[in-house]
Amino acid sequence: MADVKQVALVTGASRGIGRAIAIKLAQVGFHVIVNYKSNREAAEEVLLTIQNAGGSGELAQFDVAEGPATSAAVEELLTKHESIDVLVNNAGICRDMLLLWMKEEDWLSVLNTNLISFFYVTKPILRTMLKKRYGRIINMSSVSGQMGSPGQVNYSAAKAGLIGATMALAKEMGKKGITVNAIAPGFVETDMLNGLKLDDAIKRIPLQRCGKPEEVAELAAFLASEKAAYITGQVIGINGGMF
Ligand code: NAP
Repeated sequence: MADVKQVALVTGASRGIGRAIAIKLAQVGFHVIVNYKSNREAAEEVLLTIQNAGGSGELAQFDVAEGPATSAAVEELLTKHESIDVLVNNAGICRDMLLLWMKEEDWLSVLNTNLISFFYVTKPILRTMLKKRYGRIINMSSVSGQMGSPGQVNYSAAKAGLIGATMALAKEMGKKGITVNAIAPGFVETDMLNGLKLDDAIKRIPLQRCGKPEEVAELAAFLASEKAAYITGQVIGINGGMF
């Protein structure tokens, strides 16, 4: 890696998969911007973990679901950093309910956080990647976006939308040295699974267990690296064989 550290922004990096990705990217030499929505204490713990391991990073609080305000927050980061070389669109929520009983607010908040945010975070960063003719964009989709999950019409729609955006943007950016890929995890041990009864689901996973955030982080770090230069427009499953 060059003398000046490459910069990575990981949205939703205070907990779960985003936390593991932020720590891993810092470990392999990136300066990592740790985004979070409201859990400052958890985000500070991530930053401290990065720094204690000899890495560098900073915190950036913004709500990815806030549309133009999100872009403004990203623009502010770009006044500090000439470019953001790696973007991991990871922040996500689920609000599960059968569609028949789903509230409009749960439909909208899941779409806004998981999919609409993609536009507001990615667009300003793309400009700096284009200038540098280099970039890595990684979108956190889900097996739910690949096969549809009952009780998750909102979440499945958002995650499938991200897959479409990934494939289309990869085609737009191929000539510019910017790769765009999606990761589609199955069940990963994070707060997102709190309250779910997983016994039956695990029986249907060939590897018979949930994944660990660190396993997803290894994949993300590879896709973020220069070594992954010939992978773009792909949806890479990490799901124990369930899809
Ligand atoms: P998690 O443990 O619930 O953590 C969610 C993270 O996203 C937190 O850091 C949270 O910040 C942040 N976040 C939520 N809404 C946000 C917003 N509006 N703006 C900025 N940050 C926001 O979730 P996870 O399981 O790690 O999931 C990470 C990603 O993987 C999500 O996109 C999820 O859909 C996807 N995924 C997860 C699984 C799984 O089994 N866990 C499977 C497939 C896909 P605060 O701490 O501030 O709340």
